[in-house]
Amino acid sequence: MTRRLRLAIPNKGRLVEPTVKLLRDAGLVFEAGERALMARVQNYDLDILFVRTNDVVEFVTDGVAELGVTGLDLVAESGSDVPQLRKLGFGRCRLTIAVPNDSAFRAAEDLAGLRVATSHLSLTRRFFERRSIPVEVIPVSGAAEVAPRLGLAEAIVDLVSTGSTMVVNGLRPIEEIFSSEAVLLANPTALSERADVLDSIQTMLSATLAARDRKYLMMNAPIGKAAELEDLLPGLESPSVIPLAHEGMIAIHAVVEADAVWSLLPKLKLAGASGILILPIEKLVP
Ligand code: AMP
Repeated sequence: MTRRLRLAIPNKGRLVEPTVKLLRDAGLVFEAGERALMARVQNYDLDILFVRTNDVVEFVTDGVAELGVTGLDLVAESGSDVPQLRKLGFGRCRLTIAVPNDSAFRAAEDLAGLRVATSHLSLTRRFFERRSIPVEVIPVSGAAEVAPRLGLAEAIVDLVSTGSTMVVNGLRPIEEIFSSEAVLLANPTALSERADVLDSIQTMLSATLAARDRKYLMMNAPIGKAAELEDLLPGLESPSVIPLAHEGMIAIHAVVEADAVWSLLPKLKLAGASGILILPIEKLVP
C-alpha cells in the first residue's frame, strides 16, 4: 500500500503564513499548531510536515516528503537539482551585494581582495568566481547586515525585499545576484511513480493562485455598445454576451486581471456599461 502523500513546508519564519494561507485557500483542512511537526489534512490524502525552511530541499530530495515549499534561493544554495514544479508568487526577494553607505565601493569589481559576509555561501562564491573577482567569503548564520559595523567584512550578500533592513543598517545595495520566491518542489521518484496525485495537487495550487490575480466582472449595456465593451475586455478568452429580458439590452461577463479593474471601470462606464459587479473568483483552471 502506498503511504499518504507528504508535503514539507516551513515551520518558522516568513514563508509560513503565506504557505499555510495558500493551502487553506486551496481548500485543504488541517490544524497548524505552533509546535506541531505534522498535520493530517482532513479532506485530502495528504500529511503536512512542518520543518525548517532550510531543510525542505533535503526532505524532498531524500523522499521523506513527496512535495515541498521553500525559497528558490535555498534550492539554488543547496545545489540540488530537485524538480521545481512551479513558482508560488510569494516570498519574493533578491540576494543582493551591499556595502556601507559611506564606502567608496560602487560595483562588485571594487570588492576584489576584500571580505564578503553571507549566509548564502555557495551562491556568493559562484557569483564572484563567475565574474573572476577574488573575495574572501565570511560565513555568518544570520544578521549579515551587522558584519561591516563589527569589522568582520567590507561588504555583505543578503536577501532584500523592501530594502528597509539595509537602510536601517546604513547599507546600500550595489548589485543583485539572485532573484527568489517560494517554489513548489517534488521528489523525482514520486514525480514518476505518483504522477497523478502530484499533478492534482499542483492543479489545485495553480487554480488557487490563478484565481487570486483575477476578478469576474458582470455588467449590463445596450446591445449597440457590445463591440466597444468587448474591446475593453480581453479577459481569459472572449467575454460572454448574454441577451437580457429587457429588449435591446445585454449582460457581459468577463474575467479580468485584478490589478486592471480600477482603471477599467471608468472606461466601461464611459462605453455604456451599467450595474457593474466585481466578484472574486474562487478557483481558475485555464
Ligand atoms: P526564514 O529565515 O525562515 O524567515 O525564511 C527565509 C526565506 O524566506 C528565504 O530563504 C527567502 O526564500 C524568503 N524571503 C523572502 N523575503 C525575504 C527577506 N526579505 N529576507 C530574508 N528572506 C526572505
